Amino acid sequence: MGSKAGEIFEAIEKAERIVITSHRSPDGDSMGSSAGLYHVLKNMGKNPVVCHPDHCPQFLNWVMEGCDWYVHELEPDKVAQFMAEADLIFCMDYNGADRMGHGMSELLTASDAFKIMMDHHPRPDAFVDIAESRITEGSTCQILFDVIDEGGKLDYLDVKAGEAIYLGIMTDTGSFRFSSVNPRTHEILSKLLALGVDHTAVHERTFDNVRLDRLKLQGYAIANKLEIIQHFHIAYIWLTEEELNKFHYKKGDTDGLVNMALAIEGIKVAAFFSEKDGQIKISFRSKGTIPVNGIAAEFDGGGHVNAAGGVSHDNMEDTIHRFKALIPKYFKGLNEA
Ligand code: 5GP
Ligand code: MN
Repeated sequence: MGSKAGEIFEAIEKAERIVITSHRSPDGDSMGSSAGLYHVLKNMGKNPVVCHPDHCPQFLNWVMEGCDWYVHELEPDKVAQFMAEADLIFCMDYNGADRMGHGMSELLTASDAFKIMMDHHPRPDAFVDIAESRITEGSTCQILFDVIDEGGKLDYLDVKAGEAIYLGIMTDTGSFRFSSVNPRTHEILSKLLALGVDHTAVHERTFDNVRLDRLKLQGYAIANKLEIIQHFHIAYIWLTEEELNKFHYKKGDTDGLVNMALAIEGIKVAAFFSEKDGQIKISFRSKGTIPVNGIAAEFDGGGHVNAAGGVSHDNMEDTIHRFKALIPKYFKGLNEA
């Protein structure tokens, strides 16, 4: 795996107008890699902007402090202008233009800016000029740190950038526990702490910052809406729009629910179905070597072996019915486990 850091920094040196983008429904890694790159570019004397398709959950807001940040859903004209005028666009934490959703994906495709992707999702599309795709890495933030290091630019990494990178590594590795964590992950974390990153503060801002409504929604979901398919060691949770509204749902409120279902003793695969704007968003998670990206592809989606997702345009009942009908095809082995 040859590093493309040299080429990447050459493109940065030449660029006047740099836009940093990431995927729809932002998570800690997409926000962290966007903010981390932003601060490094700023410290290099550049004037980047971050343009995201939609807003992040409230518990991630802190990482964007001090960034020049625009959200397409809120300011479509402004974002369209930045995208059209850009001479360099970064595509952080996504493997295809369509992952930005309608609106932003067309702006990306239409732009003649030079495009650089940094990402760890399998099967990247050919939609950029430089693809720094490292699919065995646990987070885009880890790739970003390594690219900065390989380019000899660590001097430009300040505490703010370090905290952003720490956030993305933390959230995409389930707080450093998934099998994607490697020795280098901890080497990087060590360097970030040495730089002055306040790791306790990052954990607290992200995890100990829960709205009461969110906690109550999680309690309700687990107590009332969790189903177990004993035979296949599968657990799933489903929530309708009406239920979400009852708990004054805000983006991010259901994050982690699917992992709670997966945490049940003996459960090997978990799914979470949530209804929004007439669509059902589905998240899949698994333990060990059981792949869930296959079944996700049946729902217009994809992802990693242990974490994948998709959408369904059927109603909730039909969607769950379809999911159940697909179980023997994708999880035959679990039946015998
Ligand atoms: P989550 O369940 O947290 O929304 O997504 C987990 C992973 O599944 C993401 O990192 C992403 O790789 C993948 N994923 C989720 N939703 C979709 C989707 O609609 N399409 C594709 N291709 N991948 C998805
Ligand atoms: Mn990621």
